[in-house]
Amino acid sequence: MFDNLTQRLTRTLDRLRGQGRLTEDNIRDTLREVRMALLEADVALPVVRAFIERVRERALGQEVTRSLTPGQALVKIVHDELVAVMGGAAEGLRLAVEPPAVILLAGLQGAGKTTTAAKLARLLRERERRSVMLASCDVYRPAAIDQLRTLAAELGVPFHEPGGTRDAVAIAREALAEARRRVADVLVVDTAGRLHVDEAMMAEVQALHAALNPAETLFVVDAMSGQDAANAARAFGAALPLTGVILTKADGDARGGAALSVRHITGRPVKFLGVGERSDALEPFDPARMASRILGMGDVLSLVEEVQRKVDRDKAEKLARKVRKGEGFDLEDFRDQLEQMSRMGGVAALLDKLPGAASLPEGVRAQMDDRELRRVIAIINSMTPRERRRPDIINGSRKRRIAAGSGTRVQDVNRLLKQFHQAQKLMKRMRRKGGMRNLLRGLG
Ligand code: GDP
Repeated sequence: MFDNLTQRLTRTLDRLRGQGRLTEDNIRDTLREVRMALLEADVALPVVRAFIERVRERALGQEVTRSLTPGQALVKIVHDELVAVMGGAAEGLRLAVEPPAVILLAGLQGAGKTTTAAKLARLLRERERRSVMLASCDVYRPAAIDQLRTLAAELGVPFHEPGGTRDAVAIAREALAEARRRVADVLVVDTAGRLHVDEAMMAEVQALHAALNPAETLFVVDAMSGQDAANAARAFGAALPLTGVILTKADGDARGGAALSVRHITGRPVKFLGVGERSDALEPFDPARMASRILGMGDVLSLVEEVQRKVDRDKAEKLARKVRKGEGFDLEDFRDQLEQMSRMGGVAALLDKLPGAASLPEGVRAQMDDRELRRVIAIINSMTPRERRRPDIINGSRKRRIAAGSGTRVQDVNRLLKQFHQAQKLMKRMRRKGGMRNLLRGLG
């Protein structure tokens, strides 16, 4: 997300950073380039205009001219205004009502509502420890109901069975009654979408809103639809008292225009970003972090949180104990580590959040994909438990068998064994020299 925007903005602003003095001329040139970059990222024109105007006013003011490092001061203004245009402070869900708190999801067909319903259920359960129930009122597409039932079963979240009725409002009322009986904290309700905004759909979703009195009414929209996302949000906002927006498919959206436009156009906060198809691919939307990411300053906070959430603590601790006690680090441990990385979306996903990643050449980013990780895990899976514990017994014929079993070549197996020996050496050094700090010093 924001790949091009980040590259263009960092290039433009880097030129200014070192300057001792800013003139009206170079401020104007810079703003022209910022404006082009935003338009190319498909940010809505009124948003771009308002943004540039705010930055210009502040840039020409004393704040910048009196600053010792005017270039830096301008970067800070751009950052602040990016935060402001995306809504300022992060706004989470407001569910402090008499339970069950209802979350109603509305949006066009294919926007990602059903997937998002499941993601929300998972997030609320895992991060907020709330009991959640899922329900679908999409009476027009039985497949949509089946899809949510399947997702609910995968997550182990209760799902309201709609029974025989084909009346969306009746289903919603029954779901609410069932959520009460189960003493659920939250009921997430998926609704039918159409391909275009139409009156019948709006009337139905309004009736659902009246029946459910939701704590949150969220508009789910595909970020890749760019400016159209903001316009559709406006249409839904006119029909429903929306409390927020969820932008899906942000992982496939290279431009980022919707993330920057929706708040300004609709006055409603973006609350979450969908960043993948899996049920854990939902991130709280935080304008300050997003602005840092856009300006190539990295989003280290999100990264740290993600690592904390996804790393399997038990396994990490087991490994640390093993290393402390001086037991061998074997291929099973190595596989555990690789699986943890893969769970975090691989190297490429992490890279996006690191400062300066935007300036890496395209080729480097493309190479760091998940495939290599999966290949290595497949190779380890093709070994016998004995081979994993004692890799030194892996001779030529074993290597050929392992390569055939994992659909790789002997050289791949060799490379893996080499990587493993390096990792093993690191572990040994960690043990001998006592701790991470020395290890890092040793590497540097
Ligand atoms: P609905 O018609 O609004 O219920 O949309 P669905 O939930 O069925 O989603 C439509 C398609 O978009 C599915 O193939 C989803 O896997 C996919 N999808 C949903 N959210 C995301 C996301 O954040 N990232 C990606 N890459 N795909 C998504």
